[in-house]
Amino acid sequence: MASLRKLIFPLIILFALFACTGKPEAEDRPEQTESYQETPATEIEEEQPQEAPKGKPTTLQSYEYNWSKGDDMPDVVIIIDDFGNSAGQLLDDFGDLPSEFVFAVLPDLAHTKTAANVATRKGHEVIIHIPMEAENSKISPGKKYISKNMDEAELKAALDDFFQQLPMAIAANNHMGSATTANLETMNKVLGHLKKEGLFFIDSATTSHSAVYTAAKQQDIFIAKRDIFLDVPDVSDKSLTKKIQDLGKFKGRKEPIIIITHCHDRAKLEGLQKFVTQIKAMGINVVSLRDAFSKSIS
Ligand SMILES: [Zn+2]
Repeated sequence: MASLRKLIFPLIILFALFACTGKPEAEDRPEQTESYQETPATEIEEEQPQEAPKGKPTTLQSYEYNWSKGDDMPDVVIIIDDFGNSAGQLLDDFGDLPSEFVFAVLPDLAHTKTAANVATRKGHEVIIHIPMEAENSKISPGKKYISKNMDEAELKAALDDFFQQLPMAIAANNHMGSATTANLETMNKVLGHLKKEGLFFIDSATTSHSAVYTAAKQQDIFIAKRDIFLDVPDVSDKSLTKKIQDLGKFKGRKEPIIIITHCHDRAKLEGLQKFVTQIKAMGINVVSLRDAFSKSIS
C-alpha cells in the first residue's frame, strides 16, 4: 500500500503541474514557430509542485485518440533543441531521459561543451544545432551563424569551427534559419560540407519555402525533416493532447515521425516526459536517429 501511494503521489503532482493553462490553440506556422525558438533561454525556472484536486482526470488522460495500439504507427524520433545555454540540475535531468532522445547543441555558448559532454556520457546522440539567419528577426541566431548570402570561405570557416566544437555530432539541424534554409545556393554549400564530414541534415522546417530538399537531391546527401514541434505553442495538457491527436495523421507512414522540442525550462522537460509516457503506453516506439535511419546513413 505504501509503495502504491509512493507511485500515485508523484503522478498527482505531475498532473497538477500541467493543469491546462487555457492558452488559445494556434497553428504551427513557421513564423510563429521561429519567433518561439528565438525566445532567450538563459534562465532556468524551477517551479514548486502544487497538490492536485484528487480523482479528476486531466484532458490528457480522458482524451480518445484516433489511433490505437494495433495501428501501424511509425516510430518517433525526439530531438531536443537549444542545449548550450544552461548547465546544472536541469541539464542533468534532461540527460537522464532515455538515451534515444537526441540532443541538438548550439555552438559558441557558455555551456556548449558541458551539454555535449553530458549528452555523450549518458548515451545520447548529439547533433549540431546550426544557427542560421531568420527572415524576420531582430534577434541574432548566435555569435556566429550561417547567413543566407555567406561567401564560401566564411561559410566553411564557420562550419569547420562548429564541427570542431562538437566532434561527436552525427548530424545537424537548423536553429531559426527561415532565410538561410530558403536559399538553395547556400544550402547546397552547407550540405556539401556536412556530407564531407559524414553528417546528415535534419531540416527543422522553420519556413515553408525551404530549399533543403532540393539541395539534398543535388548534393546526394540524406536529409530528414521535422514533422511536429512539441512545445509550440506550449506544453499545456490541451496542447499536448493536440500533438498526440496529430500523430494519427502519420498512421501507416514508413518514415519515422520527427518531433522537435526545446530544453529551455523544467516545464518543457516534464511536458516531454508526460507526452512520451502517453505515446509509449499507446504502443509507439521512440528511437534514436541511427536506429530510425539505419538504412539511409552510414
Ligand atoms: Zn533552436
